[in-house]
Amino acid sequence: MRIEMRSVLASFGLALLAFPASASAVELAYEAPAASISRGAPLMFAVRTDAPESSVVVRVSGGNLVDEDGLLTGPEGSWLDEPAKQALEDLQVWSVPNASILRQRPGRYYWQAYVSGEGDDRPIGPVRQLTVTLPAAERGRGNLYPKFGKKGSASFLVSTANLPASLSKTRFKTLAKTTAKRWGLKAGTTTKIVAGVQDGRSVAGFSTSVPSGTLGVQTDYLRNGRVIERDLALRAGETWAAGPSYPGLSEIDLESVLLHELGHMAGNKQHQSRCANSPLDEVLGAGEWWRGTRDQWFGDCATASAASALKSKRLVHRTVTVD
Ligand SMILES: [Zn+2]
Repeated sequence: MRIEMRSVLASFGLALLAFPASASAVELAYEAPAASISRGAPLMFAVRTDAPESSVVVRVSGGNLVDEDGLLTGPEGSWLDEPAKQALEDLQVWSVPNASILRQRPGRYYWQAYVSGEGDDRPIGPVRQLTVTLPAAERGRGNLYPKFGKKGSASFLVSTANLPASLSKTRFKTLAKTTAKRWGLKAGTTTKIVAGVQDGRSVAGFSTSVPSGTLGVQTDYLRNGRVIERDLALRAGETWAAGPSYPGLSEIDLESVLLHELGHMAGNKQHQSRCANSPLDEVLGAGEWWRGTRDQWFGDCATASAASALKSKRLVHRTVTVD
């Protein structure tokens, strides 16, 4: 007899490309923000410029893809424009409201200033990176049992077969080990055996047999009512974010998926509803994560105010349903 626990997730990858921004005659000198801010900290974009009054627009994107003019672009909803206000004679600023995703979601963003209006020689400033950090003290880590489910005791091999190019063997082994430990499981030595095949060995790794739309399949193989093998097959073709930095808006956070699937391997088969503060949520979107009770981001849940602050310009994330 065979019981299959399946996590079904809709997905489509997006490659990010970078091109240099074009030069401009009008000066757009960035004075703020710094390259990195803490989550929740005040955030202001300030541009020293001789451009006409209140003509500067700040564009912020979840990725660094730019169009042929050097303007940040990407799928609809993955970037936003905000007009700057004249603060001084030669200074235009955008003060970001506290509820904005930019102050609430830790992660990496890209931004630039440009002068609004039509025309080929529209001044477009260079692209800069902005990292919003989560203070270490706010990261909830440690054991996930008994709070989120029961403690497991199984051990499994870590397969290096079909490893995505974005992920090193060492990183995968480390992630498997640390996430397993949080459920009381034990990640053993590495193997070339492919995960998700009934062969008498419990294996976690990547598989090319996991269909598109599914992030991972955790399978318990039973004989005479006893579990004889526990496998976890992750979809090899997914756009995985290996961490430890947060996933991009079109990437799937590997750590979050491991925490979810290994929760199943520990014997917790029930899902929690979308937006519950739990690693076993039935839904995970691209750009989202749950790594701890205070280290999580679900695009449209606790942050309804953040989304509404951006009105229709909400940054994109994919959502998925698990059966
Ligand atoms: Zn699940």
